[in-house]
Amino acid sequence: MTASTAPRRTNWAGNVTFSTDRWLSPRSIAELQAVVAAEPSVRPVGTGHSFTPIADSTGALVSLDQMPPTAEVDTDRAVVRVSGGLRYAQLAEALRGSGLALANTASLPHISLAGACATGTHGSGVGNQVLSAAARSLTVVTATGDLLRVERGAAEWAAAGVSLGRLGVVAELELDLVPRFDVAQTVLDHLEEAEVAGRLAEILAAAYSVSVFTDWADHLEIWVKEQVGRTDAWDGAVLWGGRAADGPRHPVPGMAVESTTDQLGVPGPWDERLPHFRAGFTPSAGAELQSEFFVPIARVTDAWAALSQIRDRIAPVLQVSEVRAVAPDDLWLSPTGGLLSAAFHFTWQPDAARVMPVVRLVEERLAELGARPHWGKVFTAGHAELERVYSRIPDFAALARDLDPAGKFGNDLVDGWLGL
Ligand SMILES: Cc1cc2nc3c(=O)[nH]c(=O)nc-3n(C[C@H](O)[C@H](O)[C@H](O)COP(=O)(O)OP(=O)(O)OC[C@H]3O[C@@H](n4cnc5c(N)ncnc54)[C@H](O)[C@@H]3O)c2cc1C
Repeated sequence: MTASTAPRRTNWAGNVTFSTDRWLSPRSIAELQAVVAAEPSVRPVGTGHSFTPIADSTGALVSLDQMPPTAEVDTDRAVVRVSGGLRYAQLAEALRGSGLALANTASLPHISLAGACATGTHGSGVGNQVLSAAARSLTVVTATGDLLRVERGAAEWAAAGVSLGRLGVVAELELDLVPRFDVAQTVLDHLEEAEVAGRLAEILAAAYSVSVFTDWADHLEIWVKEQVGRTDAWDGAVLWGGRAADGPRHPVPGMAVESTTDQLGVPGPWDERLPHFRAGFTPSAGAELQSEFFVPIARVTDAWAALSQIRDRIAPVLQVSEVRAVAPDDLWLSPTGGLLSAAFHFTWQPDAARVMPVVRLVEERLAELGARPHWGKVFTAGHAELERVYSRIPDFAALARDLDPAGKFGNDLVDGWLGL
């Protein structure tokens, strides 16, 4: 095992400096169990791509980056068993030649699978759920250092899928796979906002994965990612008043396009089209904050209208917004809340002092639509507000108390959210 006391590290965005310089990197599950059993206060950390101090600890941080990067494919069961620290990009590499794929990905392949599951990370598509809904089992190192294997359908399942790292360290996951597929990605521009805003639910359901980008000023694009060979595929004839872009685009207007996955309708493997960004490049803008709020898809046009009323406050501190669809699941802390959802994402300027008041305003405007924040992105709601939209927080907190009576896996932020 390696133990580092190097200078304090930050998250990917640089807006969070971790409160401890004690980083532990076990090299095996047995070492991980020993570390967790021995430390009085410890939090799992993935690749640090969250924008809040959600992974922070004043005790120790345990990273799985030195564990063997396992990806064992069982083609008969269409399942892969992976180590928790594995990143989407490493999994995609391991699946090459297997004839199998993940059904969906986040917008970037750089993040760890356990870290993605822990916050309810998702991509887009009315048929595509958050990543953790694809988990068939999770192997968790609990506060005592014991291994708890939680299978889909088990008593702890609904809590363990999206756990904020509060129940233990997910050492391994089994993920469902689907037959490998190709995707063609087409960006539409020259769109009229009134046309798009009025038909959002239809647009989000028109292809396998759809994203609507806007800067709430004069930039509007639809990114259509369609499976090649699907019988009910989007055929490129329905353009919602826009036209196919005449060259590749970056989600953030004006940024260089070499970091983005191929567009212009050129078919390619699932893992090289579903993420917006390529693995070898900095995703998104690099200097930014992010927020995201989920509303029932039936309210997507109402949410657009509510945000439209405050566009003069949003636009000056924004780089770009993205609207996606996420299919329902039954996980207690999933941001879908069990409903087919529309997720309104904001890539903000990296200026918390100017951004956070606007984040608060967005939350206030979306509150009456029952909006749920993404756990890994910035928001201001506290326990009472969160419990109104995440109604299973008390059940989750009760399980956390049972599994971890001393609060070993707690931190101020997460325990504040959960009322622990
Ligand atoms: C450029 C960019 C693009 C993004 N795009 C998307 C997107 O398309 N969709 C989306 O939903 N989100 C997106 N996000 C947010 C991101 O997916 C989440 O923040 C995700 O949790 C990051 O994973 P991570 O491995 O970096 O986790 P970290 O940020 O390191 O940790 C997040 C949480 O996971 C817990 N955790 C980490 N490892 C483990 C483990 N082994 N066991 C138990 N708990 C663990 C931590 O304790 C913490 O609570 C994006 C972020 C960035 C920076």
